[in-house]
Amino acid sequence: MRPKSRVRTRRGAGEWFHCVRCNKPVMADAAGTAHRNHCPWCLWSRHVDDIPGDRSSECRGAMEPITVWARPGGDWAIIHRCRGCGELHSNRVAGDDNELALVSLAVRAISQPPFPLERLGDTMLGPIADLVEA
Ligand SMILES: [Zn+2]
Ligand SMILES: [Zn+2]
Repeated sequence: MRPKSRVRTRRGAGEWFHCVRCNKPVMADAAGTAHRNHCPWCLWSRHVDDIPGDRSSECRGAMEPITVWARPGGDWAIIHRCRGCGELHSNRVAGDDNELALVSLAVRAISQPPFPLERLGDTMLGPIADLVEA
């Protein structure tokens, strides 16, 4: 039916791949997503899609999870950056993604601030102090 298809089977029908980072076998079917493209253990992905699920990218570079963001409605999505071409993708988390890996991703930026955290005290208390004095 699809003679030129590069994937082993139609997506959603038992398709799987080896994680680019930890080499664990990953099933493409997962709770919360129709086309999982990242590893539930280490959250790394591979650059195979231009549009989620289309498998049309020629890059094939490893995609590093760099942060998470909260989508409207409360779901989290992972931002992946391709080590090959630098492209950024946003991917919904799946129901069985490793929660510790997700949380460490979420706190990574706050744990490596580009300024001393002590300064936050002054910044935040400044306006409040003004209000109290007024
Ligand atoms: Zn992995
Ligand atoms: Zn790429």
